[in-house]
Amino acid sequence: MQPQSKRPALVSPAGNMDKLRFAVHYGADAVYFGGTDFNLRAGSGNFNTEEIASAVDFCAQSRVQAIFLLNSFLHEDDIGRVKEYCSSIKHIPFRAIMISDPGMLLLIREAGISVPLHLSTQMSTLNHYAARFWQDAGISRIVLAREATLEEIRRIREAIDMEIEVFVHGALCISYSGRCLLSRYFTGRDANAGECTHPCRWKYAIMEENREGNHLDIIEHARGTEILSSKDLCLIRRLPEYAHAKVDAFKIEGRMKSVYYTANTARVYAEALSLLDNHDEFARKLPFWRRELELISHRPYTEDLFNEFEGMKGKKSVPTIKGARFLGYVVDTGRDETEIYMRVHNPISAGDTIEAIYPILDHAVRDRKYRVCEIADEGKIATTAQSGKIYRVRFDAPVHEYAIFREKTNSITTENDT
Ligand code: SF4
Repeated sequence: MQPQSKRPALVSPAGNMDKLRFAVHYGADAVYFGGTDFNLRAGSGNFNTEEIASAVDFCAQSRVQAIFLLNSFLHEDDIGRVKEYCSSIKHIPFRAIMISDPGMLLLIREAGISVPLHLSTQMSTLNHYAARFWQDAGISRIVLAREATLEEIRRIREAIDMEIEVFVHGALCISYSGRCLLSRYFTGRDANAGECTHPCRWKYAIMEENREGNHLDIIEHARGTEILSSKDLCLIRRLPEYAHAKVDAFKIEGRMKSVYYTANTARVYAEALSLLDNHDEFARKLPFWRRELELISHRPYTEDLFNEFEGMKGKKSVPTIKGARFLGYVVDTGRDETEIYMRVHNPISAGDTIEAIYPILDHAVRDRKYRVCEIADEGKIATTAQSGKIYRVRFDAPVHEYAIFREKTNSITTENDT
């Protein structure tokens, strides 16, 4: 395989400001995030106009690209609000804005916003004629459909001179390019307006039509099953092949996922991208990267959407795997370097030994174990820190301001707890 002249950029999800900061510090080249409206993750933290401006400012200082999402599909009644929204953000110097709806493209340009436009995977681009159509319409980067095979990506690359981005990691929709009405049908919340409730991952039962309430169990194991659910994408092993196809950017899915997921996927893929031309080192580090990706909450991994659908025939059980419990992360430093303020995600107690992960710098992994020496809740000493709050925590050794804490487990759950 020839060396890469230009390595692809790593594009990480940023569901809120904390996730954005951690994605940046753990190695992302670009982050994508949405405002309070018109993006496809209504349930993620999202940013108001002031937060958007400060996120873009933080990205500029960190030399990371800020990609803003205006990628929902618009109804007639949305048009007036989009005009107002565009006018409220037109002064913000995004690196790019991502859209799906062609109407949004026109509305952005009508508002006088001239930043480069990226096209979302939701538009299901699978051939170079479609890509050329979008290029003529003013799109500079296209996120190909997740259904595009490596061979198709290669052929599209050969035929066009615009930027190409592909997903390399994260959840897959069972429906074509995420165009799906399940959530709207069951709950009234429309996936195409960013409100998916993930019903493809719920538990289902079969019922004979004359025996109401007599649900036939289709569970294959004690924890249930989700018959429609797909696996998660993970292309870490195949990054060199995708990079060789001259893809410009690799994207990680998951704005709704945790700070821990955001940071750990960023550090793993960032290091892998930095070693694309060093085949021996890439092969040597691959087991570590795969182990780390096993330690985030995920469904069983797959490398190929099409092949996976073939392979899924007759399969019924797709549990979520959590190799590690996410305990919390540093939100501020304390009175000395052994003390921090920690946003707690799962409970910890004084005396616990927990692990911290850190960004990988110069290919050195500095992850280490700490003992929790003291916990304080609003000035009062506590024995346990509960999830969802910020505590002052003292450890037995210095802690870096970008530490993320976890505890390794081997649990399997059918819930989608990230
Ligand atoms: S219900 Fe499942 S398949 Fe449908 S949009 Fe949501 S995640 Fe995708």
